[in-house]
Amino acid sequence: MDFCFFLIGFQEFNKPLKDVGNVACYCGHCHNQSAHAIRTINAITIFFIPLIPFYYSKRLKCDICGTSGDLDSQAIDRLKKGEPVAIG
Ligand SMILES: [Zn+2]
Repeated sequence: MDFCFFLIGFQEFNKPLKDVGNVACYCGHCHNQSAHAIRTINAITIFFIPLIPFYYSKRLKCDICGTSGDLDSQAIDRLKKGEPVAIG
């Protein structure tokens, strides 16, 4: 019997990016007003417990088709003013 295994994996956590509000943005992929700003944390998991976060990013992600795009500081400023930005 071999008990010597570690379930090491990668997991992506998406959380709403609260400080930019909740502006619905245009998705150029599925043509819906369905993209929202999120904060993404990628972490290495061991036994499904996230232990080592190694990558943070702020992105726009479409709720319908899953397309995501990077958010630069200019886009974040626009979102904070309540102006939509587009991805795709
Ligand atoms: Zn979409």
